[in-house]
Amino acid sequence: MLKRHNFALGLAWLTVLFLVPLPFLQTVSTGLPAIYNDQRQAILYGTIAYAWMLAAIYLSTRPRWLDRLIGLPEMYMIHGLVSIAAIALAYLHKTGTTSEGWTKTTGDWAFNLFLAVMLYSLIFLASWLTSRIPPLAQLKTWLEKVFHHEFNVWVHRLNLVATVLVFIHVLLISYIRAIIPFMAWFLGASVLVAGSYLWAKLGPRAAGELVANVPLAPNLQELTIRLPRRPRGLDLYPGDFIFLSFPELVGLSEPHPFSLANDPQADGHRIRLAIRGDGDFTRLLAAVPVPQAVQVQGGYGRYHAFLQEQRPAHVVMIAGGTGVVPLLSLLAAPPAPAVPTTVFYNASTVASMLYPDQFTAWEKRPALTVYRRVGRFSDDDVLSRLPADLHDVAVLIGGPAVMARHWIKVLTQQGIGRGQIYYEAFTW
Ligand SMILES: Cc1cc2nc3c(=O)[nH]c(=O)nc-3n(C[C@H](O)[C@H](O)[C@H](O)COP(=O)(O)OP(=O)(O)OC[C@H]3O[C@@H](n4cnc5c(N)ncnc54)[C@H](O)[C@@H]3O)c2cc1C
Repeated sequence: MLKRHNFALGLAWLTVLFLVPLPFLQTVSTGLPAIYNDQRQAILYGTIAYAWMLAAIYLSTRPRWLDRLIGLPEMYMIHGLVSIAAIALAYLHKTGTTSEGWTKTTGDWAFNLFLAVMLYSLIFLASWLTSRIPPLAQLKTWLEKVFHHEFNVWVHRLNLVATVLVFIHVLLISYIRAIIPFMAWFLGASVLVAGSYLWAKLGPRAAGELVANVPLAPNLQELTIRLPRRPRGLDLYPGDFIFLSFPELVGLSEPHPFSLANDPQADGHRIRLAIRGDGDFTRLLAAVPVPQAVQVQGGYGRYHAFLQEQRPAHVVMIAGGTGVVPLLSLLAAPPAPAVPTTVFYNASTVASMLYPDQFTAWEKRPALTVYRRVGRFSDDDVLSRLPADLHDVAVLIGGPAVMARHWIKVLTQQGIGRGQIYYEAFTW
């Protein structure tokens, strides 16, 4: 069933690359006076670059309907790659056109800002890239001691200033302003994207209450949040993650992503989170008193959708460390116990093995086999315990990217299709 996901992903790419710029290109190209023919190509490059930047901003609003289809990591990857391509086209536009005065100044400022923010963001915010290049990942970890995530997000938002500069740059060009159909698209799309962005940032969020906050393991807190009976805009499935913030607490008001540790549909409007103290936000959590107002956005994630699409005859879960959290939520969900499920869960210490009592209770289920271990599973440990028929197996992985890559390689070498394996990383 990889097909459905791949089809949606392919469609998303095609839409962003071709469909979004098309009306801009068509209108500007038809209305451009012949006197500018020598710059036509470069003007079209600039037009595509602007359309792609709008698409990238829209994707940064994390539209939930798209997350359920292609997943947030893929959305962020499209966002990142399309932005880079837009900057490359902006360069061709800049070198292929002539302008002066404020038109030139706004264009130059925008380009320089885009370029600087892109280089910065490639280090700090493009995990799809850093997780594949170890030296870059090391540089990121080292630099993050000084440049914290929240600060990096604010630097990244300078892209919005650059986009506004491009907007002004276009409005200053009289022969472009004279192309009415183009201006209609340009203004309409810009207002729509600006509206979506403001709605995502300032629109209503589900308000809940932190009702319990207890240590679960060393450096790991369990937070229980009570949600209203009909939480506004929340749509939670087992395995999902949400964005959590504390609007009334300094240092905790920026939303951060955390997976659900329970079945949200069974636990009477309560969600449970298990959070490791990794940085500025998460290390403050242990000191948050209850009750406390929280805001929750979500749900996001594709673990649940993946299982729905696959309808497997056997589920295999491989979890390492806190990566087990979303899989706990799936194990707690009613449909899961009916399907034979094998779980491999390892942690680095006995103390960091989460919910041992819960696992002991679950292990009584006839269709569930759990292997828990301190330290790593060898390839043989896992391969020798897989079901004989791998054809209808769905594999869910939760844990560090290096661990996920290892198991994806090992399992695909055994003949499990890449489309039968789903992994959701804890970082983008
Ligand atoms: C889909 C998803 C599910 C997650 N589920 C859990 C969970 O169940 N339990 C758990 O302990 N952790 C989970 N995390 C990780 C958690 O979001 C980060 O540890 C937390 O946001 C770090 O924030 P910080 O300010 O404490 O640390 P920082 O020092 O700011 O950052 C530590 C690391 O986390 C990354 N990070 C920081 N903020 C964000 C953010 N808003 N979005 C993405 N990455 C960020 C940084 O790039 C850095 O590498 C999940 C992450 C994702 C993406």
